[in-house]
Amino acid sequence: GIGVPAPPSVGAAALPYQDPALPVATRVDDLLARMSLDEKIGQMTQGERASVTPADITSFRLGSVLSGGGSAPTPNTATSWADMYDRFQNAALGTPLGIPMIYGSDAVHGHNNVVGATIFPHNIGLGATRDPELVRQIGRATAEEVTGTGVDWTFAPCVCVVRNDRWGRGYESFGEQSALVSSMTSVIDGLQGAALDEGGSILATAKHYLGDGGTTGGTDQGNTQLSEAELRSIHLPPFAEAVRRNVGSVMISYNSWNGQKLHGHAYLINDVLKGELGFTGFVVSDWNGIDQLDGATGFTAAEVRQAVNAGIDMVMVPTGWRQFISLLRTEVQAGRVSQARIDDANRRILTKKFALGLFERPLTDRAYTATVGNAAHRALARQAVARSQVLLKNDGNILPLASANNRIFVAGKSADNIGYASGGWTISWQGGSGAITPGTSILAGIRTAVAPSSTVTYHPAGTGIDNSYRAAIAVIGETPYAEGRGDRPSGMGLDATDLATLNTLRASGVPVIVVLVSGRPLDISAQLPGWRALLAAWLPGTEGGGVADVLFGTYRPTGKLPVSWMSGASQQPINDGDGKTPLFPYGFGLGYSGG
Ligand code: BGC
Repeated sequence: GIGVPAPPSVGAAALPYQDPALPVATRVDDLLARMSLDEKIGQMTQGERASVTPADITSFRLGSVLSGGGSAPTPNTATSWADMYDRFQNAALGTPLGIPMIYGSDAVHGHNNVVGATIFPHNIGLGATRDPELVRQIGRATAEEVTGTGVDWTFAPCVCVVRNDRWGRGYESFGEQSALVSSMTSVIDGLQGAALDEGGSILATAKHYLGDGGTTGGTDQGNTQLSEAELRSIHLPPFAEAVRRNVGSVMISYNSWNGQKLHGHAYLINDVLKGELGFTGFVVSDWNGIDQLDGATGFTAAEVRQAVNAGIDMVMVPTGWRQFISLLRTEVQAGRVSQARIDDANRRILTKKFALGLFERPLTDRAYTATVGNAAHRALARQAVARSQVLLKNDGNILPLASANNRIFVAGKSADNIGYASGGWTISWQGGSGAITPGTSILAGIRTAVAPSSTVTYHPAGTGIDNSYRAAIAVIGETPYAEGRGDRPSGMGLDATDLATLNTLRASGVPVIVVLVSGRPLDISAQLPGWRALLAAWLPGTEGGGVADVLFGTYRPTGKLPVSWMSGASQQPINDGDGKTPLFPYGFGLGYSGG
């Protein structure tokens, strides 16, 4: 939403806060002095697009709107997003002080809620690249696509450190080691650019603070049972690094630390994040996160008070925003939340709105709309896919495959399925199946990679394979999931569909190369001896050509495991210091032999 000036108000003398020549702090002070309590509370309130109308923005002075996972205008096109954005923004500009709203969305692997956007590999694959500069470029490309739809702010990156692969959000992590995750916060530099008000920059969010990847049993939104020293050494460093890179916002996590919910944790938010780390941006709650404080459904005054006093500046209350507003007003009027706390929250939020240039150029910069899914971004994504592949086994150097004079059989449910290759947080919250958005499936990538002298035959279940083929490529793995629905508290093996496909392929006697499409290591010890090669593809997204680049040696694999690969599910959590021997250790990854 950074780009196009608002229509000038006729004959209005510019007030100090409207004067771009003044320092941001001066503008914030001037604006704050003109705001009523209701306007200040509105700035701290974020509603979901489907539960907020432009008229609500005007009446309630809402400061922010979000798209939850998969929540999109109809039709779901970049232009219709931009139109929606401008409707909300014009409503905000029409209020007496004309304070622009800020729109947030989960652009966590590209602008993934928008049909036609470039879908980059999920973070787990980016961790395998070990390439912070590539990841910075991905942040930049994502920010451009986001800008083209008006959206100002992404709820990314997730800088969680995944410590248990049972966790359904493990693929949102760059890896199991704190230092690796910290290095990948370079994505923030790409998202936010050299300056927030330069074209194509958006606000980033480091999430989820703190300890989301360290819960007992890998349970999503669970309890992180760690000493303070462990919490600080494993989970805090990526946030420190994000703050060092001037990340604009930090999202609080649903998890608890030693039984206490983060959404009400004054010590970790006020003292550690804002005090010790010196975070000057604003803290946003997670989706209805403050409603979890007392365990009962429905916001209470006590929850609102505890969350705001703990240091949360903006509250994500998708549908219950009216109730939140009235509860917070009551708490302030009763003196249980101080006026100073409200002013501090507003200062933090308004400072970022000014820094983004929203007061000068509040409407969508349509010059960026054509960047959504453009060829340059897709080429970058393909490169990222190739670099994220981790070669785990290659008996007899069966890979790379010859592209000429070859007979290849492709099988597996994930071979021709962009939805599966993209995983959760793609078009819909839980992800989908099939051609949910334009792109190149892994099968299509293979077909394009071979010379006319080669044959590529495809059947998802392997039906029709015979020993005239030289290689069978089985593209198998996990179907999409997001958040707690992806938790695997028991059983981390292949599903029945994949096992049946593998059986069919094995019966033919043709050597089997497995391309595993998954958000995490799977329990494959029983099947691995029957495979000639294994390539961990993670969740590559829309540019399946990058997998083919590695299979045919156009790109020689360099990816390294971002997590230890368990030899069996009972090893979870594999990093608890008990000296377990993984199937493949952290950092493992083969190259191609010779030259
Ligand atoms: C997730 C966040 C996300 C938010 C908004 C929550 O359920 O935990 O990661 O940013 O929804 O979609």
